[in-house]
Amino acid sequence: MRLKKIKGADEAVEASKYVVHEEDKQFGKWHELFGNQNPIHIEIGMGKGRFLMDLAKQNPQVNYIGIERYSSVLYRALQKMEEEPLTNLFFICMDASTIHQVFAPREVARIYLNFSDPWPKDRHAKRRLTSVEYLKRYHIILTPEGLVEFKTDNEALFDFTLESVAAAGWKLSGCTRDLHHDLQMNQGNVMTEYEERFSTKGNPIYKLIAYR
Ligand code: SAM
Repeated sequence: MRLKKIKGADEAVEASKYVVHEEDKQFGKWHELFGNQNPIHIEIGMGKGRFLMDLAKQNPQVNYIGIERYSSVLYRALQKMEEEPLTNLFFICMDASTIHQVFAPREVARIYLNFSDPWPKDRHAKRRLTSVEYLKRYHIILTPEGLVEFKTDNEALFDFTLESVAAAGWKLSGCTRDLHHDLQMNQGNVMTEYEERFSTKGNPIYKLIAYR
């Protein structure tokens, strides 16, 4: 993704009450931060946060955490939160490769991966958020019934993900190569920014839901 560095974004992220700093210190204590025992759902690579904000508004009985590595992108979500604050949503500015050092075993009930960066070169395959390496980290932090929900418009990344899921011994509870024309899988679908952009261009949206 091409990234425009926004002046003041680092400072805004650093000062924001909606961003959890020193996130590794919350390890095993995320429920305390929300002040309840509601399930915790996270989105890795949340971008500007539209998807999570819509979900957080729809589901006050769920706690949400959005993870984004670039402050200039996260900054846009913070601006929206200032306008319309939500008590069941926090953000972390971090690279997800250390996700298992931030969440304790079985602390997370669901992981959303939406339009993840494809990393098309073979030598970068381990960086894909649906690689076996990442699935191993998700296995640690997810509850036994936990789910990974993945959407993309990138067929090669989707095929790669199907292989990773099988190689890691996970199973599929849902899979479609045309989400918006799949009545069952599309029920209650919340669109992401990228999903709207790509589907407007006519690209089919791929989705799978994986569990162990
Ligand atoms: N999920 C949003 C959507 O569907 O509209 C944004 C999709 S955008 C293509 C992918 C986002 O994931 C970017 O903002 C990127 O910075 C973030 N990202 C990619 N790899 C990441 C990682 N390892 N850790 C945290 N964020 C990551």
